[in-house]
Amino acid sequence: MSDSRMVVTHCPYCALQCGTALRRENGRVTVRPTDFPVNHGGLCQKGWTAPALLDTPDRLLDPLVRGRNGELVPVDWDTALDTVAGRLHHIRTEDGPDALGVFGGGGLTNEKAYLLGKFARLALGTSQIDYNGRFCMSSAAAAGAAALGVDRGLPFPVTDLGQADVIMLAGANPAETMPPLMRHLDRAELIVIDPRRTRTAERAVLHLQPAPGTDLALALGLLHIAVVDGWCDNDYIHRRTRGFDAAWRRAMTWWPERVEQVTGVPVIAQREAVRMLGAAQRPYVLTGRGAEQHSKGVDTVAGFINLALALGLPGRPHRGYGCLTGQGNGQGGREHGQKADQLPGYRLITDPDARAHVAQVWGVLPGVLPGAGRSAYELLDALGTATGPRALLVFGSNPAVSAPHAGNVTNRLAALDLLVVADFVPSETARMAHVVLPVTQWAEEEGTMTNLEGRVLRRRRLLTPPPRVRSDLEVLRELATRLGEPAHRYPTAPRDVFEELRRASCGGKADYSGISYERLDAGEVLHWPCPASNQPHPGTPRLFLDRFAHPDGRARFAEVDHREPAETPDADFPLYATTGRVLAQYQSGAQTRRVAELNAVEPEPFVEMHPDTAERAGLRDGAMARVSSARQSTVARVRIVQTMRVDTVFLPFHFPGAGRANLVTNPALDPLSRMPEFKVCAVRIEPYGDP
Ligand code: SF4
Repeated sequence: MSDSRMVVTHCPYCALQCGTALRRENGRVTVRPTDFPVNHGGLCQKGWTAPALLDTPDRLLDPLVRGRNGELVPVDWDTALDTVAGRLHHIRTEDGPDALGVFGGGGLTNEKAYLLGKFARLALGTSQIDYNGRFCMSSAAAAGAAALGVDRGLPFPVTDLGQADVIMLAGANPAETMPPLMRHLDRAELIVIDPRRTRTAERAVLHLQPAPGTDLALALGLLHIAVVDGWCDNDYIHRRTRGFDAAWRRAMTWWPERVEQVTGVPVIAQREAVRMLGAAQRPYVLTGRGAEQHSKGVDTVAGFINLALALGLPGRPHRGYGCLTGQGNGQGGREHGQKADQLPGYRLITDPDARAHVAQVWGVLPGVLPGAGRSAYELLDALGTATGPRALLVFGSNPAVSAPHAGNVTNRLAALDLLVVADFVPSETARMAHVVLPVTQWAEEEGTMTNLEGRVLRRRRLLTPPPRVRSDLEVLRELATRLGEPAHRYPTAPRDVFEELRRASCGGKADYSGISYERLDAGEVLHWPCPASNQPHPGTPRLFLDRFAHPDGRARFAEVDHREPAETPDADFPLYATTGRVLAQYQSGAQTRRVAELNAVEPEPFVEMHPDTAERAGLRDGAMARVSSARQSTVARVRIVQTMRVDTVFLPFHFPGAGRANLVTNPALDPLSRMPEFKVCAVRIEPYGDP
């Protein structure tokens, strides 16, 4: 008898959340793309090969506890959970609740992200929770919220981009990071801003290659040209915005020749970029990690939003500004309370009304809720210190590879009295843990995700998890009850968690209260905000058409100015290094490095450089190079390309061990978003090993 089952769900990886149909037939799982609007029958190679994750040979199948000989040994669940709860209780008794920390992930479902935030604040009582999304798009979130009143990656459906005639992509490389998006960009002329000639840049009509860390100077210069050359929409600026004069006072000193001197982008290319956007009928400006991952990431994104506002793009049909979110639930993951400074519904944890609302939903007094905690890198950097957490629980993240200054982070993780990692594979962080908890993965669980358009999607279960694997929700309840919490506060059915999340988000900026599993399962297309109302609310696919989300309905220009990166090249470290992603790997690579087809394409770390750069360092294509910064060194294979700037090398960050790109990256933080400066640090390169 044939054993066959099929579910309609979504890819486990990036924020596009391509629609897929997963089929299990006679024990084998296959995937095919669905006609979901963002991917219209397309998938990238990561999506096509995702079923390989389901039977990865080193799948975690039992809880593991580190034994006396230092090895992780399998134990039953009660032993593992009792061990964790006992040690958490002991540390909290000795040093208080902030001696316990939690590190979440932008790939967790909305339900997991929500319950994790609640668990941290109530069961542990700690303020020390943050997540890896801080490393992803926290700068765009802060800049978008300040300018537009609320941050939603794309405030319009992806399909709107299919009608665009000109799109500026500032620091985004969707041809590698989310290839199916490119089919929506086919009709548009692309202006790409990136120090590398990426696959996206190869498709561009105009490629601007600024020196790393100078994107804000370029954005200021583009605004300068827009004003001086008469491309601004003065009526829109007057009716729908505030703060133009202050923004212009900064931009007026960034005349094109000065911008060329600082960025290296020729005046003629600057003017052409503005002309293309200004003359277009349906122009868009989109930003990505390249604009964000700087110690001035918020100001850099704000600089591009200023340009978009001056041209009259946001909040109007057939034009707009948006940010291309990275991680699978990068949008939803930051809305439901796993961020150090936020409560569910995108509420500030310092806002008394927000605290009162969430406390009421959780059945506690507002005073019970802790205040804001440390941001992701600051939390990791404090681990095991006199004032930092002594214990850390990690869900859905691999900071030993993905965090900046990874050597320091590894040392801090090693200094903990208790490191607990919940994952489905033995990631580099899990291998350091005192306790490892094996949890379900995408095709084994139900839940919701929110994609880069703010559209809420159903993740559906195809497979029964392996027998001794539990869901993260079950783990949280088991730990919470062992720490004295009532079980009813921690539902384990995703639908029940979502029902509570709806109430917690009600009235917040990311309002999910009108969304239900029933509506999603009936095929309704629902973007937040979608408040509960007498008539089912249709959701909000396009934001800001009538007004921006500030009390007066107007968008805000930001008064920003260029400043140098935290680190610039000098005699010891004469080159810039910038980091990023490649098509065949995803994030820290914990998943994609386990997929044979993907690993065959990109099996090892590499360092991309111009032939002149290589020659000066005595390096040839294919040789091994040591790349060193003021922090540490990494080792990678040389890849020579004609298209790289001679003053810059590029490192992908997906690889572990001595090849971790983040061994060299600079943890200098943006003052507002606390985003580390992944995109620029100073390095030197030299031959490594035998020539
Ligand atoms: Fe998956 Fe993103 Fe690739 Fe789509 S683009 S298949 S969501 S990794």
